[in-house]
Amino acid sequence: MGTFRAIRIDKAEKGTVVALTQFDEAELMEGDVTVRIEWSTLNYKDGLAVTGKAPVVRRFPMIAGIDFAGTVEQSSHPLWKAGDKVICDGWGMGETHLGAYAEKARVKGDWLVRLPEGMSARDAMAIGTAGYTAMLAVLALEKHGLTPKQGPIVVTGAAGGVGSVATAVLSKLGYHVIASTGRVSETPYLKALGAAEVIDRNELSGPAKPLARERWAGGIDSVGSTTLANLLSMTKYGGAIAACGLAAGMDLPSSVAPFILRGVCLLGIDSVMCPIEQRKAAWSRLASDLDRTKLAEITHEIGLDGVIEAGARILAGQVRGRIVVKIL
Ligand code: NDP
Repeated sequence: MGTFRAIRIDKAEKGTVVALTQFDEAELMEGDVTVRIEWSTLNYKDGLAVTGKAPVVRRFPMIAGIDFAGTVEQSSHPLWKAGDKVICDGWGMGETHLGAYAEKARVKGDWLVRLPEGMSARDAMAIGTAGYTAMLAVLALEKHGLTPKQGPIVVTGAAGGVGSVATAVLSKLGYHVIASTGRVSETPYLKALGAAEVIDRNELSGPAKPLARERWAGGIDSVGSTTLANLLSMTKYGGAIAACGLAAGMDLPSSVAPFILRGVCLLGIDSVMCPIEQRKAAWSRLASDLDRTKLAEITHEIGLDGVIEAGARILAGQVRGRIVVKIL
């Protein structure tokens, strides 16, 4: 057994120590599939882990990184054989199971999704957990019955990872997308992704009224807190908001008024323990409903040596779109 490069997190007297170093293959955790990782990505949660800003890591030593794309090296799982191209998102990677910022991973075969036909491993990680979560939100809204005919759809944190992919996908599906951002200087970027309107996030960040003017039929929110409360109070009768994030906070200072007086629904989105069939559906829709040219435009590439610095930037809300991490 040898070693491989990885971003390792160890517990220190105060907090954690994070470093790009060699990791011993013998320390890999249990699993029936070993994968040669080719690409990973940087998500908000990765930023929390590599900066130690929140207690995301619950096992030490840990390899950071919550998602990867790569090629199966060894497998005793009936579905997978050496050479298969796979994607893995969540399932506690980078939290309780050794993660993705590494040349190798050992995971459960049941966690893996086959790389869709025609999608490269790099594209899969340009999408990453952020993009796959955006698609889970789109699927939840569709299941609720939302269609472009019912009215505009709002996307918050629009210049971020979830927001950028959500904006691109929803506009391709024919929705009138209202993109909310704190970076109005990114208006040309958001319009190029397909936003029909760009609004300043300050419009949505004050205390929410129980009910306000009905502005949209649905929404995808990665911000939480008063923003989500405002979104709900401005949702049209019978509409729905898919909530997936907490960039502004974990609280929800809302009232029951949108639910009981307008029949509005709040749809919760979790990517980490999401059942495999929903994952497959999301990746299949990402293959067909996300314009790859737009994906390329929102993506920046870094190496493993750039992850820790980029982790601090994503927490500061300074990352636009998606960051893909080249491993091999
Ligand atoms: P990003 O940092 O790329 O995007 C978050 C965006 O939110 C920022 O770009 C910014 O957009 C906006 N934002 C940041 N801080 C604030 C603030 N204080 N007030 C209002 N808006 C703010 O992160 P991701 O897209 O990777 O993740 C977004 C959120 O979704 C995170 O909270 C993350 O934890 C969560 N998430 C949840 C998942 C799940 O399974 N439920 C999976 C993936 C992500 P702008 O500059 O346009 O205003």
